[in-house]
Amino acid sequence: MPLRRRAATAGQDTRKDPSRLNPEARNDARPALRIIPREQHTISRKNISKAALRVLYRLNEAGYDAYLVGGAVRDLLLGGRPKDFDVATNATPDEVKKLFRNCRLIGRRFRLAHVVFGPEIIEVATFRGTGEEEGAEGERHIVDGRIVRDNVWGTIEEDALRRDFRVNAMYYDISDFSVRDYVGGMRDLEDRVLRLIGEPATRYREDPVRMLRAARLGAKLGFTIDAAATAPFAELGSLLLEASPARLFDESLKMFLAGHGLKSFRMLEQCGLLQFLFPATARALKRGDEALRALVEQGLANTDERVAEGKSVTPAFLFAVLLWGEVRDVAHQQITRGKDANEAWARAAMQVVAEQCQRVAIPRRFTFTMEEIWSLQPRFEQIQRKRVLRLLAHPRFRAAFDFLLLRAHESPAIRELGQWWDHAQQLPHDTLAAALPTHGGGGGDSEWVAAAVAPARKRRRRKPAAKPKPA
Ligand code: ATP
Ligand code: MG
Repeated sequence: MPLRRRAATAGQDTRKDPSRLNPEARNDARPALRIIPREQHTISRKNISKAALRVLYRLNEAGYDAYLVGGAVRDLLLGGRPKDFDVATNATPDEVKKLFRNCRLIGRRFRLAHVVFGPEIIEVATFRGTGEEEGAEGERHIVDGRIVRDNVWGTIEEDALRRDFRVNAMYYDISDFSVRDYVGGMRDLEDRVLRLIGEPATRYREDPVRMLRAARLGAKLGFTIDAAATAPFAELGSLLLEASPARLFDESLKMFLAGHGLKSFRMLEQCGLLQFLFPATARALKRGDEALRALVEQGLANTDERVAEGKSVTPAFLFAVLLWGEVRDVAHQQITRGKDANEAWARAAMQVVAEQCQRVAIPRRFTFTMEEIWSLQPRFEQIQRKRVLRLLAHPRFRAAFDFLLLRAHESPAIRELGQWWDHAQQLPHDTLAAALPTHGGGGGDSEWVAAAVAPARKRRRRKPAAKPKPA
């Protein structure tokens, strides 16, 4: 039987009072609410995580309002599988904490409850107010270029209005399984369009990262972005320079490592926002280097493919791809000016990473790997016994080799080099060692390379032994 709101709590208990958290909002004009009953939408509890359902039911049984909200409702309505399930409620964080043993409160500016179920965390947020009323509690702050207020609780209507896009402001009500749509999200979903709630320039000034979210969600969902939402990009895009680099790192991961990286990248470029996030990449691509574009796009496409196959992906590899053009060009410039090659590569890497980290705070563990991937590139050209064997044994060989394969776009010689290293890896150590020259030599076409590669080709062609037929 579906859970109903508890009649017993309706009397003196204020838990169901829509303005219990913010009495100031009582007389506010309400946006038109559309309630879509269960039989008119496609969200089924089967597709909601068990953990989220437990949180929703427990809150509801305790007499609070409890909704699934945001991206999860949007993705479920689109028939997709949500990445995370967020809950919105009129219970305060302290009240939430009292209901769940496995709950911790996080954040200072806005307190949120995290209810932890093994690896899954359900984020429970108390309805937030717009905080615009005179004398509203909660001090105004500018944090990371965002205007925020300390814990200003509000009604569900207010909570809907402070969300970014209309499709992100729908609430799935666990008490009757209906969807509550305060701002016309359902219509946008049907039209496959992203529209901001409120006046776009104001919403971007409050939080410039919303511009990136528009590009990312447009790419992820395959929605068009409403012209009114893209119009302010040219003027306000530079506000992204004030956003926190740590937040931009998180946002970059969501853009590039969540399975729709290539589309996000193209959307960012098309929207003119790439330059604020990855200035070196935007610069290098603007120089019209088509080989570099092919390399970057292929790197993103490969990453998307790995995500689709459920394989692991590392941000280091992808960021190395994005910044490669600039690192390579800076290193070459310095080498032309007579600098020692090793030093030139190391310096170029350091310089490009330092510039990038002012925008997007890539953690050290990743920049370290990026620098290794880059610095190993020139070593692929040194085809000499000791060096080859040392490079093959390098812990970062695999990543650096995959990177070399992407660089096949740069020239036929590099493609051949990639093929050579591909074959070299398949040879037994001794065969390879015997075939390699002890001094100098370039990869690709020399006779000994052909000789070294030939047995590998032969071996691979051999038919597998016939399997015995099952009895
Ligand atoms: P996904 O999880 O698929 O990346 P999402 O829309 O769920 O997309 P989250 O970052 O999980 O994105 O945010 C959850 C919800 O919180 C959003 O759907 C939106 O309602 C609200 N939200 C997130 N970021 C903002 C923001 N910058 N401004 C206003 N509302 C936001
Ligand atoms: Mg989400």
